[in-house]
Amino acid sequence: MTTQTHHVDHELIEAAAEVARTRCRGDNHTMAAAARARDGRIVTAVNAYHFTGGPCAELVLIGTAAAQGAYELDTIVAVGDRDRGVVPPCGRCRQVLLDYFPALKVIVGTGDRVRTVRITDLLPESYVWADHQLDAE
Ligand SMILES: [Zn+2]
Repeated sequence: MTTQTHHVDHELIEAAAEVARTRCRGDNHTMAAAARARDGRIVTAVNAYHFTGGPCAELVLIGTAAAQGAYELDTIVAVGDRDRGVVPPCGRCRQVLLDYFPALKVIVGTGDRVRTVRITDLLPESYVWADHQLDAE
């Protein structure tokens, strides 16, 4: 078992929970995410549901962070609306987060069992996109 436990950033969970409580609405916005950027600031976002594959809150957050000049994220957490608490990233988000931020930490678990794990621990034997961009010489 390679999973390491890390300090849990409760301020980050609360930031996501606050956005989930106050900004999620109807069926379009049901999840909130918060990330701690490398420089310490917190960036938040909500999902944009659409049947064609609208992005999860984690993916919206990547763009939101970039729009604010935050290109390096340290930790991320997602919280569901209607008091669903911390929700782990879906498979697609795990892959995207791994490719963007290989050293990212993710807060998962419920209630008093929330914990911080590495994105690589959530995607064992992972496909690393960058490793397969071979030169076409
Ligand atoms: Zn997702």
